[in-house]
Amino acid sequence: MLHISNPLLTLAITPNGTTLTLEDRRRNVVWTLDPQTSGYKTEPLGDWQTDPEFTPFGPGTVDQPAPDTLRINTPVPGGAIERTFRLLPDGVEAQTVIRSAAVLRVAHPGHFIPDHSRLELLIPINQGLILRNFGDAFLRRDAKTMLAMSGCLTERGGLLITQETPKDCWFIWQKRDVGIRAFHEVIPGAVEGWYPRVARIYVTDPSITAIAKRHRLRLIERGHFMAWPEKIARKPILKKLFGSLIAFIGYNRGRSTDYVASARRLKSAGFDSVLYYPVRFMATDLNFLMGGDQPIDLSQAEINALQACGGLVSPWAWTYETRDTGTDACRHTFRTDAQNAFISHWQIDENIWYKTCTPYQSEFARSQFAGPMSAMDWVHYDVNSVRGGEACFNAAHALHNRAPLSARDDDPFVGELLGPEVNGNRIVSSEGFNEYLTRFYDIGSNKYLPTWGAKQPFLVVPLTDLVFHDSTLHNSWELHTYNAIPCFGKLTTDSRLQMGAGLPEKKAALDALYGVPPLVFPFGRQYGWADIATCKTFSFEISLDDAEVQRALTAALPIARLHHRIGQLELIAFEALRDDYTVQATTFADGTRVVANISESPQEVPDHGLLPPNSWKVDSAS
Ligand SMILES: [Zn+2]
Repeated sequence: MLHISNPLLTLAITPNGTTLTLEDRRRNVVWTLDPQTSGYKTEPLGDWQTDPEFTPFGPGTVDQPAPDTLRINTPVPGGAIERTFRLLPDGVEAQTVIRSAAVLRVAHPGHFIPDHSRLELLIPINQGLILRNFGDAFLRRDAKTMLAMSGCLTERGGLLITQETPKDCWFIWQKRDVGIRAFHEVIPGAVEGWYPRVARIYVTDPSITAIAKRHRLRLIERGHFMAWPEKIARKPILKKLFGSLIAFIGYNRGRSTDYVASARRLKSAGFDSVLYYPVRFMATDLNFLMGGDQPIDLSQAEINALQACGGLVSPWAWTYETRDTGTDACRHTFRTDAQNAFISHWQIDENIWYKTCTPYQSEFARSQFAGPMSAMDWVHYDVNSVRGGEACFNAAHALHNRAPLSARDDDPFVGELLGPEVNGNRIVSSEGFNEYLTRFYDIGSNKYLPTWGAKQPFLVVPLTDLVFHDSTLHNSWELHTYNAIPCFGKLTTDSRLQMGAGLPEKKAALDALYGVPPLVFPFGRQYGWADIATCKTFSFEISLDDAEVQRALTAALPIARLHHRIGQLELIAFEALRDDYTVQATTFADGTRVVANISESPQEVPDHGLLPPNSWKVDSAS
């Protein structure tokens, strides 16, 4: 074995490079790079449920180019793969250089197996998950994760793997006969092909909080973290975010809704600040119907009245894709793929929307804020955050120098689109939570409903809030409101995890734990699919008088008030007070501790007595 050590770690590699271990000397845990998931593939990704296994890295050579570095060079079809491991004070930096056109996918660096029987994995999907080794085999492959990391937990130690070059990759998480696995698979860039990939592997204490906080520290080290005070200094309107109700009011213009009267009633019900979205559509073309209705377009008088009773108003910034009107002006902005074809991405009835190149979205947004959107207090961009930077091959695009734009090089353009240069003093929100973009925007989204159970394989945890609570708000998807609504908002499952609208008391318990504001659809009109196969639509109206809305608002008001107090603070700890996760607790930087029972039955909690189903309480505060 070749070894390199420091006081905390020993990295050891066999002379032929086929086995690598990392010993956490202080916590007495040895992590072995799993040979089954550490390897490469020469097959392109097809049907991923029948995707072939990785070919494990075969024998190669190992050398020590520097006192703190070991390097493995492994022959592969068409060339070689060089993997370099450099010791850090509390971890290892792993760089992978692929010199082969025949290799199409590489594990980077692969899954790590502890020398302990118990293993749980920290998964950066939606607000975060703990994956445990229960239940049936499954395979998930995600192109987009909320954070560019994953974690492993065992009895005595934790492991954090950060992706330092987090583009052009898949995150794979699975349960197989040998247990649970999670790792990143890197692929060539669509424009630039293979480029060096870097990850970091850190040893931590054995808790979700410890792994999340090491990741947060890494983002701070890289200059990729911006806390609320710095964001507020550049956009003072952000102060109004804390303590607000977030009110989705539908894409459609209501047929019977009195928006102003409804907003006044919300104000008198105790909601002093309400973020309404959308009140208008910010899109290049509005000549389409959704379920027979035109897009919402409140008048200036209505907007003034909403603002006069504590409302902050946002358009639906539908810039990510553009409806094809057949004109050169519209088609000029379309993103194109490697075959220079337009990329369709949405359809309503017979209308088709195509992806728009990012800098052209910024150009359009600037013109809108100088014109019809000048009164907007905040802005919600559709899927820009969840999609992130993407390649564009359109050689007519002067805004990226008439040369192909890589996904990596598009990231700064997405940052510009969501940042203060384009949006000025406006709160910025976008669907999906995107670690890279947290320096630019303020609100991301998409969350699971909570899970619990002694043998539950997927446990929902506040990973993103442990990293970003004092930087960026993690909201729910706009149609997953406290009140139940049809179609897009219906309760659905995703790998046996539940999402959707409704269950207001459960959502309130979760939002109290996470320290985030409530999301309600209090009034307005929305479309859904009448037949998704043919993209046929219908629409429905929500009234403030609906019993379901009133129930949601009752659950929401104390959540908004709690957020006013703790919304800017760091979430410093998360703990499951019972092994089955029915009762959970969070602690914020001022000492506020929230305890919640997210299950359907009363739970006895030490020092707290009986906590009713779907309830929460503030346990202590400084
Ligand atoms: Zn372009």
